[in-house]
Amino acid sequence: MDATKPLPEPKTLQEAVVYFSDPDRCFEYAKKLRWPDGNVVCPRCDAAKNSFIKTRRLWFCYACKRQFTIKVKTIMEDSPIGLDKWMAAFWLLANAKNGISSHELGRALGVTQTTAWFMLQRIREVMKKQKWGNTTKIGTVVPNVTRETLQNEILKNVKFGSTVYTDNAVAYDNGMQRRFVHDVVNKTEAYVRGQVHVNGMENFWSLLKRSLRGTYVAVEPFHLSRYVDEQVFRFNHRKDGERKLNDADRFSAVMSQVLGRRLTYSDLTGKSDSPHHSETGTGTPIPF
Ligand SMILES: [Zn+2]
Repeated sequence: MDATKPLPEPKTLQEAVVYFSDPDRCFEYAKKLRWPDGNVVCPRCDAAKNSFIKTRRLWFCYACKRQFTIKVKTIMEDSPIGLDKWMAAFWLLANAKNGISSHELGRALGVTQTTAWFMLQRIREVMKKQKWGNTTKIGTVVPNVTRETLQNEILKNVKFGSTVYTDNAVAYDNGMQRRFVHDVVNKTEAYVRGQVHVNGMENFWSLLKRSLRGTYVAVEPFHLSRYVDEQVFRFNHRKDGERKLNDADRFSAVMSQVLGRRLTYSDLTGKSDSPHHSETGTGTPIPF
């Protein structure tokens, strides 16, 4: 394929795979997202004077005398996985309604399941707690569903005096009325009563449960919040006001957030003895 031939930006998975299969096109896409005005600055020292080494697709900074790639200071930093595979992974996770397992992604990209799992966790890190318009949903993992836990969580996240609709779980009794305008739907009778409804929540729950039971199956409690973040991201990116968002919109929404996000092996596993000693060059490097 002729890399210099301009292709329209992809709208479907198939177009995305073709588009990003070309390393130059992939690189240009990521570069434009990162430096929209075309002025490349060093991510380490912010200096603007650099030279581009085209054959290796990296820059040399004249100020700090170090090289940098497009991945430095992004969620993909240190990853030997090519941008083409990263882009496809971002596309798939941003758009798969029920999520995508590391086994499926590994097979789709031709990488090991462990590598795919680590990539997915990094993408979930990017999806975490993003604001989107006025209808942003948030999701939090709580250790139990006692009255104290649930009401504390609501107090932390909902502005005093707001209108709060809940179902009729007893944990929402006592206390809510003092701080909020609280209205309740009794789910054993109906999901909607006039303006009062919890349909959005019910819809979200059914999607989350489907991804956890159908796709991910055995999620450790330690990682649960990441799967919630992923579903929250997709849920918040269904619409922008009245406009329905498409796959390309969701992809660029997540891709535009890769800067400044990091997730290392030890962050992810809770183990400090990372087998990936990039500084000393010892140990067994894990290829993600
Ligand atoms: Zn520099």
